[in-house]
Amino acid sequence: LSDRLTSVFSSLRSKGRLSDADIDATCREIRIALLEADVALPVVKDFVAHVKERARGAEVSQALNPAQQVVKIVNDELIEILGGETRRLRLAKTPPTVIMLAGLQGAGKTTLAGKLARWLRDQNHVPLLVACDLQRPNAVQQLSVMAERAGVAVYAPEPGNGVGDPVQVARQSIDHARRQQHDVVIIDTAGRLGIDQELMAQAADIRDAVSPDEVLFVVDAMIGQDAVTTAQAFMDGVGFDGVVLTKLDGDARGGAALSVRHITGRPIMFASTGEKLEDFDAFHPDRMAGRILDMGDILTLIEQAQRTFDEAEAAKMAGKLASGDDFTLDDFLEQMMMVRRMGPIKNLLGMMPGMGQMRDQLNQVDDKDLDRVAAIIRSMTPGERSEPKIINGSRRARIARGSGVSVTEVNNLVTRFFEAQKMMKRMSQGIGIPGMPGGKR
Ligand code: GDP
Ligand code: MG
Repeated sequence: LSDRLTSVFSSLRSKGRLSDADIDATCREIRIALLEADVALPVVKDFVAHVKERARGAEVSQALNPAQQVVKIVNDELIEILGGETRRLRLAKTPPTVIMLAGLQGAGKTTLAGKLARWLRDQNHVPLLVACDLQRPNAVQQLSVMAERAGVAVYAPEPGNGVGDPVQVARQSIDHARRQQHDVVIIDTAGRLGIDQELMAQAADIRDAVSPDEVLFVVDAMIGQDAVTTAQAFMDGVGFDGVVLTKLDGDARGGAALSVRHITGRPIMFASTGEKLEDFDAFHPDRMAGRILDMGDILTLIEQAQRTFDEAEAAKMAGKLASGDDFTLDDFLEQMMMVRRMGPIKNLLGMMPGMGQMRDQLNQVDDKDLDRVAAIIRSMTPGERSEPKIINGSRRARIARGSGVSVTEVNNLVTRFFEAQKMMKRMSQGIGIPGMPGGKR
């Protein structure tokens, strides 16, 4: 018998693919969300095209409605792109590991140098900060302060020796690191306000002088669309291996992350979220995807819906669908509790195509009502629960007394149950339930 049930269920499930109309409508929204998040237009176009393609091949989900399903694909895809090749810092086989920072002035390089040094120190490395920004009068001083706060050493030209040569300083710092047993060297470089050939040339010279294991491009998440041109210029002028996104504590939606990743193909490795040393973390693609889509609540709900309505429960429910008569009050209660676990019901009603048959009943129920329903069903004998037809007037009175509710409430519950059971039966006969994927609409 159960084999037959399983095949009924799988035919229900395999019937539908997402319709083009559903996909197009949702992708229009996604496109707007991405543009509002400051993702560059060509990137948006590519991305949405890619998502559409994937969504067309996707089977209709049991737990999500079509729009939610497309949002989920978008989210998954974003996470994959943002984190596909996330990797740890590459440490040199023979120390010191050399990390060079590049980026526009104000991007947050010097701040990041301190954060990275502290982070590495906490992992038992012995970093050396190197001041190669000799452009701005206070730059060296600023890095020294950072080093002191991070509790690490700094290498800088002696003050008062005139303007030093950053390439020279970089080269010497490596020897210094070797002598002083530093296993990581972090080179802070100068930036300009805009993209500038001289600056690029200097960064490239420093790069050639020290052959860094990692060049990290530091970019301010707040600069939005400009991130693309800046990233491209640094890619062409210096080249880099990874990206650090700064100022994520601001209100930028973080579209720069997707743009830079997409345009340069380089992974985002770290995120900076404030001026203090501890405002720093490895980059989390899932958080960033949620931020770019700005659909945090929806995404959380989708996750919850999926988790709750997992395959096992779906399969179990499928068994009950085969014959409406098999659907008992225990199942009814279990379904309600399943919904309950997902959080406040009102937020969730719209998310439950798989439970379409329950939606009307649930619409009238809030969490407190659910407790009463549970109390009523628990006041029934096992026999009554599995064979609700036997619940006559005197049984209803007893159940009402036992659960502390009125007989009318018991009556309402029993009526609602029989309605649900009828729908189950209809569904099992392949008539379909409105709103149920695979069913007729
Ligand atoms: P650099 O020119 O690339 O070296 O940039 P700085 O490290 O000097 O940073 C420029 C300014 O941005 C400073 O005022 C920093 O305190 C600030 N800053 C750096 N990173 C962050 C961040 O993640 N969040 C915030 N709110 N400010 C930051
Ligand atoms: Mg600086």
